[in-house]
Amino acid sequence: AAQDLYLGMDFGTSGARAAVINGSCTQVAEARQSYAVNTTEEWERALWLLLEDLPAEVRAHTAAIAIAGTTTTCILTDARSGRPLAPAKLYSEAQAEEYVRLAAAIAPANHSATASISSLCKLLCWAHDPAFEQACSTAVVLSHADWMASLLHGRLDTTDAHNAVRLGYDAEQETFPAWLTSQPFAGLLPRRVVPPGHPVACVTPQTAERAGLPASCMVCAGTTDSVAAFMAAGVEQVGHAVTSLGSTLAIDLLSATRVDSAANGVTSYRLGRAWLVDGGSNTGGAVLRRYFNAQELEHLSRRIDPRQPSGMDYYPLLDPGQRFPICDPHLLPRMTPKPDDDVQFLQGLLEGIANIEAESFHMLATLGASPVLKVHTAGGGARNQAWTTIRQAAVGVPVVASLQAEAAFGAALLAQTWKRT
Ligand code: ADP
Repeated sequence: AAQDLYLGMDFGTSGARAAVINGSCTQVAEARQSYAVNTTEEWERALWLLLEDLPAEVRAHTAAIAIAGTTTTCILTDARSGRPLAPAKLYSEAQAEEYVRLAAAIAPANHSATASISSLCKLLCWAHDPAFEQACSTAVVLSHADWMASLLHGRLDTTDAHNAVRLGYDAEQETFPAWLTSQPFAGLLPRRVVPPGHPVACVTPQTAERAGLPASCMVCAGTTDSVAAFMAAGVEQVGHAVTSLGSTLAIDLLSATRVDSAANGVTSYRLGRAWLVDGGSNTGGAVLRRYFNAQELEHLSRRIDPRQPSGMDYYPLLDPGQRFPICDPHLLPRMTPKPDDDVQFLQGLLEGIANIEAESFHMLATLGASPVLKVHTAGGGARNQAWTTIRQAAVGVPVVASLQAEAAFGAALLAQTWKRT
């Protein structure tokens, strides 16, 4: 008999990916769709095209689905029809100062839900917009992952315990706290919060028909893109971290203790009996790409001697402003003086980013997180050997490349936990 399969989907910044695994976690199919703009219409189009791209026999044996979306992306949704009532507010959209102040007035000091990009600030912005006064009485604020999943199962009352954190969900008490539920806008919060991977509902008969899925296919609660990417790496030991060196630098550290700090851009997600401590920096590969193309990065890096420091003291950022390890919207980049030698300049940039990474782990430990013991690396920078050596010296622990780094694969693992529980 054909075996059960598990589908994970990741809706990212520039496109969506699907990964299908079998019961032994081996990938059996994948698909990709890109989008030029981040709108609910484009995401919905990508969802159906992704499903269409998977072989019919794979879809016919899909037992469960889980979806990852971008962290803090929110959709004001009509609670009856599921249609968006306004353009989505994207992960990177900082909300106006007045909403940040409103959030700070009700939330505990320094809570990550008070950061200007938080889901709570986005909800507050809609709740206070006279244009949505009527709509808000029958609306719900869903995360990116929730809304995508709602297209499959039709449920508009459920979110996962990871995406809920930036709304103000208390992951320790596993409830929306009283400071939130006592507010006049509390009706906009999803009614039910369940752990990622928890079964939410089967696909609707219409979805089953349209996508060629079994009527029994279970849609499970999802998570954020960064948690899904961490899950893909298969890291399970406290003190182990995944550093993503893509356009930006992101750090996810498995910690025995929970850390949350808006001032440092740090949020924690419950993961089994431990916590996933997550921070995203504005530094990263995009700064390298401003000066060098992919080939130049490759061949210049091969000429770097990591044991001979460049002597530069850079703080690489594309624009002023940093989110993590300190949140300072006015922090200035430092990428001068620029030497004539491109090898020396690139080495200085790589060292600068490595120092921010090392500072990040130091900051997390200072805030009370478990000390880092080993770093796994994902993203375009993972294959740079000279950089790996530089980073290992800066952080002071072994640095290795991740075997798997696709958030879609992590989401598929999440769908598969449904069968194991
Ligand atoms: P995204 O976050 O856009 O998905 P990727 O994980 O694909 O990014 O990584 C792209 C980034 O990887 C680029 O910004 C680039 O600077 C970086 N990169 C690519 N090749 C190298 C290399 N050889 N050394 C260092 N960085 C690299």
